[in-house]
Amino acid sequence: MNTTQQKKLLEAFIEIIRKTSAELPKDVLEAVQRGHRAEEKGSRADYALGIIENNIGLAKAKSQPLCQDTGSILFYIHYPRKLDHSEIAKLARKGVIAATKKGYLRQNSVDSITGKNSGTNVGPGSPTLHLEPWAKDHFEIRLMLKGGGCENVGIQYSLPEGRIGAGRDLAGVKKCILDAAFQAQGKGCGPGILGVAIGGDRATGYLGSKEQFLRKLGDRNPDPLLAKLEDEALADANQLGIGPMGFGGKTTLMGVKVGALNRLPASYFVSVSYMCWAFRRQGAVVTSKGEIKKWLY
Ligand code: SF4
Repeated sequence: MNTTQQKKLLEAFIEIIRKTSAELPKDVLEAVQRGHRAEEKGSRADYALGIIENNIGLAKAKSQPLCQDTGSILFYIHYPRKLDHSEIAKLARKGVIAATKKGYLRQNSVDSITGKNSGTNVGPGSPTLHLEPWAKDHFEIRLMLKGGGCENVGIQYSLPEGRIGAGRDLAGVKKCILDAAFQAQGKGCGPGILGVAIGGDRATGYLGSKEQFLRKLGDRNPDPLLAKLEDEALADANQLGIGPMGFGGKTTLMGVKVGALNRLPASYFVSVSYMCWAFRRQGAVVTSKGEIKKWLY
């Protein structure tokens, strides 16, 4: 990449971070509004979702973070294979530093041993970069900002799990999903969205569960069995009465997204990641010259 391309790509990274931090994607905004309409007028759930909607409007209008916790910074990048991946990684990190200086990201990343904050959001494991070369001539850059409160309530099951009576089948997976929603009540700033991976190992399971958040909320799982599981788990979770912020109500979850990875015959993991209402994910098609051509969400 020449200097002009590098400059443009850096600007694209900063703009993607700004937009992700300040604006909820359309599918999530519509789900919040749908949930709000479903709640009884004057109820605590109605009140909580009203505040959330106001917050969303203010953050967008002022181009400021939707939540004070701007979260873990997770990039998923496809890039033209002729380019050097280390150069792109360097620009992504530079973009994070610049976006932090501009206030689009809170100074949020600390050394795990000393607790020291570099003030840049850059350090081992931050940002997390998933970089994949492809044959196309443009980039697709997706970003997710995942808050600590919702990350804390992620949970992994190893089936069979006697506590909840979950066996190694899709009925058992559904029990895990409902238990995860139940355990998260009052934490993680609901209404939430669950990303679920069936199978894999302990690491790839959680990785897969987070990748489910890259899907749009309104999409349909191509696997009819998983599509049915998603629909049923969502409907059942919304019968639990937990509601927004755990205040009671009909909107406990706004979505359940499930994927499957191969597993060893000896293992059957179900990994569940929880995303809060501040579901910040955005993405853009970016030309090889570094110009944003189209937003993906
Ligand atoms: S869980 Fe989400 S909404 Fe709650 S504080 Fe964390 S980032 Fe903000």
